[in-house]
Amino acid sequence: MRVVIGVLALQGAVSEHIKMVTACGVTPRSVKTQADLKGLDGLTIPGGESTTIRKLLVREQMLEPLKKLVQQGFPVFGTCAGLVLLAQPDLLNGLKGTVVRNGFGRQRESFETELTVKGWSKPYHGIFIRAPYLSEVQQPAEALVTLADGRIVAAQQNHVLVTSFHPELTGDTRFHRYFVEKMI
Ligand code: GLN
Repeated sequence: MRVVIGVLALQGAVSEHIKMVTACGVTPRSVKTQADLKGLDGLTIPGGESTTIRKLLVREQMLEPLKKLVQQGFPVFGTCAGLVLLAQPDLLNGLKGTVVRNGFGRQRESFETELTVKGWSKPYHGIFIRAPYLSEVQQPAEALVTLADGRIVAAQQNHVLVTSFHPELTGDTRFHRYFVEKMI
């Protein structure tokens, strides 16, 4: 069966996600309208500016349909701004936790660091750009990457995966592969 993964293409790092999805051996589809959501096996929501993406989702009348899909168990992977959209209760409400937007302050607005991912033997190179984090998550959400100071920067709740950082800006397909192979 052909697996088709959508990449929300309203704003942000769209082409990078398309490359990653393609590298995982599945068919990507850029998603710009409500109709594009039909028949997908999953969706990735890129980094960008969550306020802008939210406004465009409302303009395209996609916020409610997408929220409904997420509540029904549709697999979604959100990076950075995508995390904000997925974890905010008034937006897509797909993961239980508390989001701190632009949570790393001015000096560290952008930084890179090696991350330990729960259950993975090799570290993952995290690229953070004005990144949010989760100060806590609640069951059934689970933290996958927690920094030494307790900030949660990757988490999963059943079919919803979020990272504060940008796997699509690395050449390391493990997060996308995990999404495609374990969550679809
Ligand atoms: N700070 C942005 C937001 O809150 C996210 C930044 C990003 O996606 N690189 O939407």
